[in-house]
Amino acid sequence: MIPFAEARRHVLDRCVPLAPVERPLDDALGCVLATSAVAGEAVPPFANSGMDGYAVRSVDVADAAEGEPVRLRVAGTIAAGAPPDIEVTAGAAVRIMTGAPVPPGADAIVMVERSNRTGDHEVDITQAVPVGLHIRAAGDDIAAGTEVVAAGTVLHPAHLGVLASVGERRPLVIARPRVGVISTGDELVDDGRPLEPGQIRESNRPTLVAAVRAYGCDAVDLGTVADDREALAAALEAAAATYDAVVTSGGVSMGDFDLVKVVLDELADMAWMQIDIRPAKPFAFGVLGSTPVFGLPGNPVSSLVSLSLLGVPGLRRLAGRTDLDLPHVTAIAGAGLTRRPDGRTAYLRVRCRWADGGLVAEPVGQQGSHHLAATAAANALAVLPDGVGVAEGGHVTVVLLHSPFTP
Ligand code: AMP
Ligand code: MG
Repeated sequence: MIPFAEARRHVLDRCVPLAPVERPLDDALGCVLATSAVAGEAVPPFANSGMDGYAVRSVDVADAAEGEPVRLRVAGTIAAGAPPDIEVTAGAAVRIMTGAPVPPGADAIVMVERSNRTGDHEVDITQAVPVGLHIRAAGDDIAAGTEVVAAGTVLHPAHLGVLASVGERRPLVIARPRVGVISTGDELVDDGRPLEPGQIRESNRPTLVAAVRAYGCDAVDLGTVADDREALAAALEAAAATYDAVVTSGGVSMGDFDLVKVVLDELADMAWMQIDIRPAKPFAFGVLGSTPVFGLPGNPVSSLVSLSLLGVPGLRRLAGRTDLDLPHVTAIAGAGLTRRPDGRTAYLRVRCRWADGGLVAEPVGQQGSHHLAATAAANALAVLPDGVGVAEGGHVTVVLLHSPFTP
């Protein structure tokens, strides 16, 4: 058996970031920005009103107060999107809307709640305002020439808005990895027909395709391949030639028909590993041409755990990310998290919930590598080093598979 860290390192050393590509903003969420974005223009581009109200000269309203209004002449109205073509002269005000440019002559905005309109061309102001009040200066959010999003940033929704605000509509990002997903096994049935003796229903592809997508890649379902050397070789070669990475399940254990590792060894620079973890001990990783191939074990829970612990860091590396692993956080064991000593690190399927200001992890039920139904209730893996586990109330590291804050 080899240590998990060594297997992870092996994968990372063979996954290199993909080439940068231009992407429209609506296809860039979650991508890594390849080059720093610098603002070519100021945001906001001009001084504008932060309130609906009146643009005034603050000297004109210096004596205004509640019950002691100052009457001003209303010289016109400026809406958002209109040019500031009305000047505010002594004794005058301009009706102004939020986002509209501040007209020449005005140096402050009085919010509409501090005014009483007394006629079409007159308004009473009931508040003295300091120079600059409610005026958003040009460049107040972003000055022209400054870096707005650094290279290497994983783009979140607000980053996309910031890029749009400076006119960047097709940022250069690391391409989102396109991942081909293949299941292997003569026993697998992937349509609705009745099962013959010995057959089971294929369940890994729906899980792995969805997981690969949830982890920010484009997944393509490449179907099921029989336990047949030629069929496997053809499928792997075609997938490796087409996609940025390939994920297979099954065929990497000790069985006579576990041929993925055999074929991968013939075609690729391959390492077949027995890793000191449970589940997901067997793992094959090959580089076919220049394409990484993740040979996950076939047991449904093992394949998902393997993808989460070894696939995710490799795929994130391809995606240009430097935060490689799923989040590891500390939780309190809400019940005993038990295991038996076997020289391996156990990853127990647990459900984490927020309680009393912290995360509480509870086991989800059956913990066999084929117990997918119980795993579906889990949102995290509790990391239990070799030993007997963690007693109720103890601290435990958990790997978050998805957010414990959403159902
Ligand atoms: P293998 O790794 O190919 O030896 O498969 C290990 C176990 O996982 C066997 O019981 C297989 O029937 C099961 N298995 C493999 N692939 C799948 C799949 N795609 N869907 C459901 N079960 C699978
Ligand atoms: Mg098999």
